[in-house]
Amino acid sequence: MPLDRILLNTGPSPNGWHKAETFMLCPRRRGWDHLAERDPGRGWHFPATARGTLVHVGLAHYYARMKCEQEGTDPDAYYDPETAIALLPRVEENEHDACTMLVEVPTAIKALKGYLAHYAFEKVRVLAVEQVVEIPVPGTGGPGEPPMKTARVDLIYSKGSGDNERIFFVDHKSTGRITNQHPKFYARSGQFLLLRWLGKHLGDRFGGVVLNLVQCAAENKYTRPSLDPVPGFLVSLPLALGWFERQRIAFEESGLPPELWPPIPSEHTCQGRYSGCPYRDKCDVAVPESLDMEWPKVGVPRPL
Ligand code: SF4
Repeated sequence: MPLDRILLNTGPSPNGWHKAETFMLCPRRRGWDHLAERDPGRGWHFPATARGTLVHVGLAHYYARMKCEQEGTDPDAYYDPETAIALLPRVEENEHDACTMLVEVPTAIKALKGYLAHYAFEKVRVLAVEQVVEIPVPGTGGPGEPPMKTARVDLIYSKGSGDNERIFFVDHKSTGRITNQHPKFYARSGQFLLLRWLGKHLGDRFGGVVLNLVQCAAENKYTRPSLDPVPGFLVSLPLALGWFERQRIAFEESGLPPELWPPIPSEHTCQGRYSGCPYRDKCDVAVPESLDMEWPKVGVPRPL
């Protein structure tokens, strides 16, 4: 459908953590994702993901309009947050995803309205919304190295002024139930580590990474808990990315079908904490064309 205002893209960045993470969890799952990226009609969303996507787009439009107001430009260049949420299923190309999203629209709008009331008096200066950035992690981006990682930062804002101004990177997360485990999960997530890594380049001006939690349930809740400091994980990030990214890229460039990417058959990966891996049905029956393939022959580096 034709759009007469900006509808923000809140999707993943081109070379974001999600690709590396999925490959680390299960190379074959990344293989299925890679296939779906080349054929968007085969994409897949769980209801919780659809709900999160909708809340996310609502927040993006709320802060984009706030930025316009702060800078004296026209906020109506962007759809208002509720309209953006209602529009998203109508522009989604994948029919399955569109239907899944449509069901979640009322829940997402209710969560958004609660958010706007909860943070009605927050005082921040919005610097960027849904900004794609490149993150120079050593071991990625040099000659012969995997490409530099990218991230789409949901929101960048600053607080304070002059020498006291501090810049924060915000990531919106929706959940069915906020628990005290969330800051522990996300502190150790590569997505957040990458943002912290990026923040190091701001020196003293970096205020930190903000986990902006939204509980989407009968009772909505909102919190921004502090993340555990995890310097050990931060300094290890190049180690993790260097090795796994080389493997991932080699598989992607090999052109092998997902059935020939190594699976991780485990209740922790196939079943999972939420709804499990979306590709279980495929893996249940996927039969490689040649089970006796030789790694060097198909051009894929032999894993160490
Ligand atoms: S079902 Fe299991 S083995 Fe198959 S892609 Fe998913 S996580 Fe990997």
